Amino acid sequence: MRKPFICGNWKMYKTVAEAVAFVEAARGLVAGAEGVEIGIAAPATALKSLADAARGSNIRVGGENCHWEKEGAFTGEISPGMLLEAGCSFVVLGHSERRQYFGETSGVVNKKVKAALAAGLDVIMCCGETLAEREAGKTALVVEGHVADGLAGLAAGDLARVVVAYEPVWAIGTGRTATPAQAQEVHAGIRELLARLFGPAAAEALRIQYGGSVKPENVGEIMAQPDVDGALVGGASLKPDSFAKLVNYR
Ligand code: PEP
Repeated sequence: MRKPFICGNWKMYKTVAEAVAFVEAARGLVAGAEGVEIGIAAPATALKSLADAARGSNIRVGGENCHWEKEGAFTGEISPGMLLEAGCSFVVLGHSERRQYFGETSGVVNKKVKAALAAGLDVIMCCGETLAEREAGKTALVVEGHVADGLAGLAAGDLARVVVAYEPVWAIGTGRTATPAQAQEVHAGIRELLARLFGPAAAEALRIQYGGSVKPENVGEIMAQPDVDGALVGGASLKPDSFAKLVNYR
């Protein structure tokens, strides 16, 4: 049985003070969520304070990106070890905004995935097609490419610490959500691919989150799909009450 994982992705929102206030307000609201894993990926500056504020709660804290090297002359970058030291237990990698605005290729994502796992972080690896790719009938090709290339070289055992987030680019921050059936179709395809690459047991155990304008009103129908094991949520994760409704979707 896969444990659902509901994770906020704050992107470039929230100061340290705002992040701490959020956790102080949210931790009691989500404390009773049984059988659900809860995470927040936050801006680097807020991570340490956020992790301190979340200590003793059921909220995990993660980074939104990291570099693949342990240290070095990479101005502006953060290593997996630095995220760990700040109190993170996971990192989001390959988000479409990283691919779109910062030129991240699946090859780069793959290096980051390996480095993060080696350092001891769990990984949420994102994949997803643009609207043009969907309309050209290339959804499966693009998504499977992101997954296969992003996870290339991993052993089946590594997958226990990986979550794949399917995030159609056309649904992120647009208010336009994939239908539950569209999400299920792609998720099932990802699981089939993982079974071919890593074996059925690893594929069956791996969690696949959906992301793209998930909100309290639609989280239930998305989560009801058999291959949807969680949600990666941007906008609707920024307010404690909305976040708590997502977490308490059942
Ligand atoms: C995201 O940031 O990964 C995301 C899915 O954003 P939103 O929920 O705002 O569409």
